[in-house]
Amino acid sequence: MASEVRFASAKVKHLRAEDTLPAKFQRMLNGLDLKSMFDEKRVAVKMHVGSYFGYTTIHPVFVRLLVAAIKDAGGNPFITDGSFSVANAVGRGYTEEVIGAPILPIGGAQDKYYYEKPINFRSLEKVHVAGNIADADAMVVFSHGKGHGHCGFGGAIKNIAMGCVTVQTRGRIHALIDTEFSWNSDACRHCYVCRENCPGGAISFTDEGEFQVFLHNCRYCMHCVTSCPENAIDIREEGIRYFQEGMARTTKAVLETFEPNRVLYITVLTNITPLCDCWGFSTPSLVPDVGIVASDDIVATEQAALDSIKAENYIEGSLPAQLELAEEDGHLFWKIWGKDPYLQVETAAEIGLGSRDYQIVEIE
Ligand code: SF4
Ligand code: SF4
Repeated sequence: MASEVRFASAKVKHLRAEDTLPAKFQRMLNGLDLKSMFDEKRVAVKMHVGSYFGYTTIHPVFVRLLVAAIKDAGGNPFITDGSFSVANAVGRGYTEEVIGAPILPIGGAQDKYYYEKPINFRSLEKVHVAGNIADADAMVVFSHGKGHGHCGFGGAIKNIAMGCVTVQTRGRIHALIDTEFSWNSDACRHCYVCRENCPGGAISFTDEGEFQVFLHNCRYCMHCVTSCPENAIDIREEGIRYFQEGMARTTKAVLETFEPNRVLYITVLTNITPLCDCWGFSTPSLVPDVGIVASDDIVATEQAALDSIKAENYIEGSLPAQLELAEEDGHLFWKIWGKDPYLQVETAAEIGLGSRDYQIVEIE
């Protein structure tokens, strides 16, 4: 059965405040049954607060509207992000005075407040679910939709899998893919053909001549493998999807700490940039602002968000100089990062987190 996804478009039909995105967002929130989800509940609002010179995270106007709506529904909200990230919130204007709720480190001040959960996926045997998530009664996964070098897209799944766990678990999810790239030091004669043929600039060599790959920038194009005259490089292609599968499975472990019907997913599709907000800077929008999607189904939310970011709407010249669009067909983030952004959605659906079929209900 198709899941309902509410959609507030960023397009403005008439030049009046009621036709703009914050007003539509408020009407979207008013139309949801927040009382049944949040009344008398302690509600975690999971955000990515960005850092340093970044200016394209979710605008505080939207955070303030969401916090007010949760309070109106009888809930007690708090904003949360990584234990070592929340100090950066003030730099983007997220303060309690502005947004109306406190901002708490997700795993306590030292990232030592967590609950261990087994997931037994390859080398990821267990994950540390952050204490401020596991001990909350309800959650709003309030995500900024943008590109991501490791998984193509950073939306709701990434916000949970990378953001609702400890730093140690985040590293172990990344390590799911790190193990799948191999280099034969005995065969390599340091001709650097691989480095010259790498379109992502991902390959470097240490002073000691050790081959290194910055996986974030790797597009898995296999050029290094095929261009190496000594067959010194190998990539196990099936390993490419382990990171994304690991994210979906971690997401499930986090969501299992909540009772049914206690989690709402809202993804803000404005300032859609190629890089994650963790980089500490912003680059121009790749496409015109899309709007906001919301649902109680994470898979439908993620699928709808991705479907709404269209390669044909790409704004020429918006990509930073180091990045380029691949010529083959596919999603915009596939063309930029060479990683299928739908993989984590596919796995999330397979493990029962929701439906990829959705029906859009547009907010007027
Ligand atoms: S192309 Fe092959 S032989 Fe040449 S530097 Fe790279 S790994 Fe070594
Ligand atoms: S697979 Fe492609 S992008 Fe990745 S390191 Fe090799 S050449 Fe670079």
